[in-house]
Amino acid sequence: MISFKNVTKKYGEDNLAVDSISFTVRQGEFFVLIGPSGSGKTTTLKMMNRLIPLTEGTISIDGKNINDYNIHELRWNMGYVLQQIALFPHMSIEENIAVVPELKQWKKEKIRKRVTELLEMVGLDPDSYRNRMPHELSGGEQQRVGVVRALSADPDIILMDEPFSALDPISREKLQEDMIRLKKAIHKTVVFVTHDIREAIKLGGRICLMNEGKIVQLGTPEQLLNRPANDFVRNFVGGANSTDSGFDLEQYIRPSAESTVQPGPSISASATLEEVLHQLARYEQLSVEKDGERIGFVDRQKIIEYFSLKTTEGGRDRE
Ligand code: ADP
Ligand code: MG
Repeated sequence: MISFKNVTKKYGEDNLAVDSISFTVRQGEFFVLIGPSGSGKTTTLKMMNRLIPLTEGTISIDGKNINDYNIHELRWNMGYVLQQIALFPHMSIEENIAVVPELKQWKKEKIRKRVTELLEMVGLDPDSYRNRMPHELSGGEQQRVGVVRALSADPDIILMDEPFSALDPISREKLQEDMIRLKKAIHKTVVFVTHDIREAIKLGGRICLMNEGKIVQLGTPEQLLNRPANDFVRNFVGGANSTDSGFDLEQYIRPSAESTVQPGPSISASATLEEVLHQLARYEQLSVEKDGERIGFVDRQKIIEYFSLKTTEGGRDRE
């Protein structure tokens, strides 16, 4: 559990980057920090592992003030993934992943097994990747290594700062899928920074929306969509919050044969966007029924497509 109590960060005399924020990230929760550029997301994240000292207030982890932890212990216990992963260029993929386990003096055999497991987790064949050098990997592959490197020593908490935003759309989507799978497999506390509301909705979990160093609203995706605290939230979640104007679930159905997981509950083909979002916040896939028969399924990907189209259309309208 990570607790912020009236935490403020000032750069210099009067640059208030974070303005007296209080919130709690629960154990095992996927927590999204979102907001426009300059709203204080990175500063908030970096205060958690003491990369940035706070000016006022208290941050505690599992009830203990972060200043009372040994700094190495604190950092080793928090995986950290940045927008642009910097793998050590002169070290192999295996060595890169093994950095923290080495520091923790794990046995060679244990490290080797862990590297195998982690590479498999993100779909990189261990035999062909472990001995490669970083420059022999694509940007997307390097970022995947960066993600699993943060998991290597099995930290309790993982901090991710716009980890996918420098990637091309296809790699980004792949890594988001990885993330959804990892989330289910590992049950870690994850604090995930993004400025992309669609990414936030896709990844699920609670969303903490920041602006100008303050928390504007903290809640589930559907709370932000359905009960925005003010106009800022309404605008930020954009096209995502309007009541099913023109939403037709049937257009977003995929054939049952493509289903890869056990779908969640059934939903009617005439369901509103709100109902669909509400269920998709909990389940990855939903069966869709019409006249009592299953006609296919819908998943988050398809609904993101809807928002993506809508956002593009909205942009055109305003021109
Ligand atoms: P975000 O990650 O949401 O884009 P940041 O936390 O990076 O926002 O920045 C919040 C505010 O603090 C911005 O106004 C930014 O210009 C300022 N800021 C960030 N880092 C520094 C720094 N090292 N020195 C001075 N001001 C900074
Ligand atoms: Mg940032």
